[in-house]
Amino acid sequence: MNEIFTQEIEKWYHQNGRHLPWRETREPYCIWISEIILQQTRVAQGMDYYHRFLERFPKVEDLAAASEDEVMKVWQGLGYYSRARNLHAAAKQIVEMGHFPDTYEEIRHLRGVGDYTAAAIASISFGLPRAVLDGNVYRVLSRYLGLDTPIDTSSGQKMFRALADEMLDAAHPALYNQAIMDFGALQCTPQNPLCMYCPLQESCVALAEGKVNMLPIKSHKTKVRDRYFSYLYIETKDGEVLIQRRGAGDIWQGLYQLPLIESTEGPVSYDEMAKKYPGCTLVVQGMTHQLSHQLLHAECYHFIVSDRSRDYLPEGQWIKRDELENFAMPRLLLRIIEKMFSEIYHE
Ligand code: SF4
Repeated sequence: MNEIFTQEIEKWYHQNGRHLPWRETREPYCIWISEIILQQTRVAQGMDYYHRFLERFPKVEDLAAASEDEVMKVWQGLGYYSRARNLHAAAKQIVEMGHFPDTYEEIRHLRGVGDYTAAAIASISFGLPRAVLDGNVYRVLSRYLGLDTPIDTSSGQKMFRALADEMLDAAHPALYNQAIMDFGALQCTPQNPLCMYCPLQESCVALAEGKVNMLPIKSHKTKVRDRYFSYLYIETKDGEVLIQRRGAGDIWQGLYQLPLIESTEGPVSYDEMAKKYPGCTLVVQGMTHQLSHQLLHAECYHFIVSDRSRDYLPEGQWIKRDELENFAMPRLLLRIIEKMFSEIYHE
C-alpha cells in the first residue's frame, strides 16, 4: 500500500464521490446487477436500467424464474446482450446454491462475472481485500507511477495486477476500490484530466515528467469491421409483419429483428432487392450504429405482400404490427422502425 496515494484518493472520494443508488447498499444482488450494467454502459444511462431491473426482478429468485424474453425486454436498448443472458443464467446458479456466494472464488464462478466484477462484489458486499482493475485503474496507476508498459499485453496486465493488489488498502477495500473507480472516472479522466486541482499532483510521476497525455500506453489499436444491414419490413395488407429471432454466434443473440440481408462490401443495391421483392421501396437509409469492434450501416425496405405463404419469403414469425413493441429488439432497429413508421404511416 502506498500511504500518500491511498489517503489522498480516499479523502478525495469522501468529498467528491458520486452518490449512486448502488452505493447505498451492500446487498450483493444489487451490487452485482449494478456492476454488470456498468460494464459497458455509462452511469447516467445505467441508472435507469438499474432501477427498472430491480423493480421488475427485486430478488435473485425473481430473475431466475423469469423467461429469457422477459429479461431481454427489460435489458432492451442497453446493448451487449450476452450480459443479460449471463445474469439470467447466474441467477439460476445462485438460487441453486441457496445463497449469494460470499467468497471471491465462488463469485468469480458465476456466469458472466470476470475478475473485475468479482473483486467489486467481494470487496463492497463482503469486505474482502480484492483490488479492482479496469480501464480507470490502469489509467490512474500508469499515470501516478509513470509507467509506460503497454496495458494490453499479457505481461503488462500481470504487472498492473500485481501493482493494483499492492496499492490496495486491505483494511478498507470497499472504500478504496470505489475511490479509485471514481477518481479515474471524474478526476484522472482519459482526456483533460484535472491535474491542476489534483490532490496527487505533488507525487504524480506522469505530471512531473509531462507524460500525462501519453499514458496509459496501448500496443495496438483494435480494428473496426464494417457491416451493412438491409432490413426488410414485410407486411401483409392486414397489417401483419414478419419478424425473426436472432440465433447464436453473433451480436444480439436471442433478440428479435426484421428479416435481414447482410453484406460486408456495401449495402445491397436496389435492383438486387427489387428482383427478389418486386415493388419494394427503400424507406430508411444511412443509419449507423457503433459497437466496440464493428460499425453497422443500416437501411430498411418496405414490402407489401398479398399472400404470406409465398415461398420466396424468409422464415419467421408473423405478428400484428402493434405487437412489435412486445419483442425485445436492438436499439438500432428500434430507431429504424420509428423512422420508418413516420415515413409510411406518418405516426
Ligand atoms: S496529477 Fe493528473 S495525471 Fe496525476 S493522478 Fe492527478 S489527475 Fe491523474
